[in-house]
Amino acid sequence: MFEQVAHFIGGQPVAEGKIFPAYDPVTGVVVRQVHEADRSVVDRAVAAARQAAPGWAALPVAERARWMRRLADGIEARFDDLVAVEIADTGKPVEQTRTLDIPRGAANFRAFAEIAAQRPDSAFHLPGVLSYTVRRPMGVVAVVVPWNLPFLLMTWKLGPALVAGNTVVVKPSENTPGSAALLAEICADIGLPPGVLNVVHGYGPAGQLLVEHEGVDAVTFTGSTRTGATIMKSVADRVKPVSFELGGKNAGLVFADVDLDKAVDGCVRSVFTNGGQVCLCTERLYVERLIFEEFCARLAERAGSVTPQPMISAEHREKVLSYYELAKSEGAQIHTGGGVPQFGDARDGGYFVEPTVISGLPATSRVNTEEIFGPICHVTPFDTEAEAVALANDSDYGLAATVWTSNLDRAHRVAQRLEAGLVWVNTWYLRDLRTPFGGVKLSGIGREGGTQSLDFYSEPTTITIKLEQPDE
Ligand code: NAD
Repeated sequence: MFEQVAHFIGGQPVAEGKIFPAYDPVTGVVVRQVHEADRSVVDRAVAAARQAAPGWAALPVAERARWMRRLADGIEARFDDLVAVEIADTGKPVEQTRTLDIPRGAANFRAFAEIAAQRPDSAFHLPGVLSYTVRRPMGVVAVVVPWNLPFLLMTWKLGPALVAGNTVVVKPSENTPGSAALLAEICADIGLPPGVLNVVHGYGPAGQLLVEHEGVDAVTFTGSTRTGATIMKSVADRVKPVSFELGGKNAGLVFADVDLDKAVDGCVRSVFTNGGQVCLCTERLYVERLIFEEFCARLAERAGSVTPQPMISAEHREKVLSYYELAKSEGAQIHTGGGVPQFGDARDGGYFVEPTVISGLPATSRVNTEEIFGPICHVTPFDTEAEAVALANDSDYGLAATVWTSNLDRAHRVAQRLEAGLVWVNTWYLRDLRTPFGGVKLSGIGREGGTQSLDFYSEPTTITIKLEQPDE
């Protein structure tokens, strides 16, 4: 499906622009030929979104919420196709794609339909004065997303942006164009008004043309901190609102009072899920010295039996392997992994690396300070709770952290001191879509989730009326 991927503009496929290849990360074989958006394609996509904006914004929110539910129904009707497309682009395991990525796409539309429809308006009364607030959509929103959870992250932005009354132009990652192309087809099938959702494909320059476009009113971006900073500079002159979900260098703190089996289980998930290619994955583990040796041995043993998952591209694999080499050259102890697995089949053409556990490097090593985004973690011992918190907070990033302890007081105490937007205790990646999601420091600006998303995708106007009192 989608051997040729076209843009989607004004409800129509648009097969224009140079062609570039997208690869299957499991085998390295080309799976799609994708059209790359140039300035004229981006102009037309933004124009289509602008044209559709007034009509879409004028619909009652309950009507837009109905469209969101139809989109969710459309996703469920094409469930198997979406699973197949996402797997071909990302090399994800079938189970993960069927139980998480694609169902969450439908859930994102349903959740925001619900939240928006139930959101109360606010009004404030003083004697003789009534103030109330109306919220208006921003207009046209540019949605730029990465490759690691393509469908999940795209729909996480589209649900609230659309239900709040905006029209959108989406730029999926060049590595994973398939599920956005299929969502466009679903929009056409359900008869979503043309121009409400548009998709343009391409590399960074296509994204840059989109976010800079004078017809775009706001930018929502998930991706690397470096790209976020570039986008921020390029929209600064027009002072466009931005919502950024960026990189992480997430810490996990393991205290000796914990149930070790559960902690090791949890850390295996938080380090190696999706080959470590989830922004929430743990790359720095701090383990109380009393259990350090045993923890490392058990984590390494479990990591050795994790089925390797491919990195998204040859380029990304090179980046991850460069950290493996750096760790070795700096004298790290390699508990397991550190290389490229050999399968003896077609997967040897893919982009795999071994799940890897290391220790022994200083906090200042780039292995401990930079986001690697692969199946690797560095484990450091600590002696006191205060030291553990200080080590975890010693990072430019602040997206997520995990705490593993059986001590309830400690759990609250530590969680409240960690400089991160999200802290999990004795679990990881458990999400309620109504809660704020996002990071501090270099990990982002703003929060997504629940009413926080709706706040970003709309602007309040406060109306204050003086109420004259009749003469008594
Ligand atoms: P990336 O920044 O390289 O690319 C993300 C998107 O931006 C892609 O669609 C890309 O084509 C586009 N882009 C690149 N340059 C651009 C520019 N100058 N202007 C506009 N668009 C541009 O990120 P990636 O490698 O695709 O994704 C991995 C990164 O995403 C990691 O750093 C990860 O932590 C982060 N991420 C963060 C979250 C979160 O919620 N905080 C979630 C998932 C991924």
